[in-house]
Amino acid sequence: MDEVLREYLSKHGVHVLKWQDLVSFPTNWSRGNSVWPMTFGLACCAIEMISAAMARWDIARLGSEVFRPSPRQADLMIVAGTVTKKMAPLVVRLFNQIPEPRYVMAVGSCAISGGPFRDGYNVLNGIDRYIPVDVYVPGCPPQPESIINGLLELQRKIAGERLLGKENGIRIHNPDFPSEYPIPECGEHDLEPPYNSSIADLRVNDYVPQSPAQRKIVISAVDENILNKVSEDSFLQDIQKKAEAAISGLKLKLVKNPNANPQQDTIFVEPEYALRFASFLRDEPEYLFDFLTCVSATDWLEQEIQISVQSAEQVDGETVVKKKNTIAKIPAHIDVCYVLCSTKQKVEPIIICQSTHNRADDCRVASLTPVWRSAEFQEREIYDLYGVEFIGHPDLRRILLWDSCVDHPMRKDYVHPEEIRAGKEKNV
Ligand code: SF4
Repeated sequence: MDEVLREYLSKHGVHVLKWQDLVSFPTNWSRGNSVWPMTFGLACCAIEMISAAMARWDIARLGSEVFRPSPRQADLMIVAGTVTKKMAPLVVRLFNQIPEPRYVMAVGSCAISGGPFRDGYNVLNGIDRYIPVDVYVPGCPPQPESIINGLLELQRKIAGERLLGKENGIRIHNPDFPSEYPIPECGEHDLEPPYNSSIADLRVNDYVPQSPAQRKIVISAVDENILNKVSEDSFLQDIQKKAEAAISGLKLKLVKNPNANPQQDTIFVEPEYALRFASFLRDEPEYLFDFLTCVSATDWLEQEIQISVQSAEQVDGETVVKKKNTIAKIPAHIDVCYVLCSTKQKVEPIIICQSTHNRADDCRVASLTPVWRSAEFQEREIYDLYGVEFIGHPDLRRILLWDSCVDHPMRKDYVHPEEIRAGKEKNV
């Protein structure tokens, strides 16, 4: 029928439909108004998705309040939040388990492109690398209104679909969309394959390489011994005296922080004595350091530090400014620092630190989890990200990255998989 005539009739209340539309219209109307999402959330954006389902926004108005616990009963996967590389294979597997017709809504910049973590080591740069996305809802996070708008867009898309035929047809009739999508595997450096080439392009060139770690540092100081300054903090000296008297063979080193107040000076302890020293700090009635607030680490590549000291001298009654440069070499190692507080004694927080012998074959320190239980996960994180082995840890396993990964992303010589791939492509 002529389109002008069809429009004219439509304006006067006479709807003329093709027979496919006659079938599609009521079916799509009912399908579009009862899109059941899967109960599934990944990070902060999931809170917005949950809000959209609560009374204030009430997604039930659009027929989508029935969040299903099983993919077999769901129509829509709302990927709300950061998709980590460890989680991505499971997301694809769940998507494969949703029967057609099925839809995907990527909510938030993390699900769309990796968002603020785009250049990170463990975040997928967009779920559309592996599964087809129907609606993108941008924002960090998008508000519930945006998610509802995304749902309305999806309803519009469903309304325009045809149940039969390839043109505008639902995916079940389109051979370009397989019923199952390949599930990536966690490889040595990254997910393998890094994207599904049938639905996505690899965006290697988007990656901004990180600047290389500094191996030569110049610092200006008033004293050339600045790196070896001993702390004069009387509280730390008191701890040192008492601990060395209580533990035979213990030798502590009090290192002055050149940039901060005395409270941030550090007690260095050899890993062989660390456990006994930690027990002393926890049990000694005068200190009772019972609360470990955090554990952190610093990776030191072999470094050359030029210390530049300026001094003024009087020569023949005139002031002459002289500059002296000294070079200090710091061998490669990793420092692991623990910040301790006492909830029982009113003493100041302290920092104790263990250093590994090197960054390669002897990269280990003592685990302090037997003394402070809260060290367990934090030591695992340092093991994962820096490759420091904690002797005596009750459950030393990777925590953020997958077991087959060989990298330690917080090390300064870490190479991002995108850079590895770009290098490989350049060499071809
Ligand atoms: S997009 Fe922003 S709010 Fe959403 S998961 Fe990522 S960081 Fe969180």
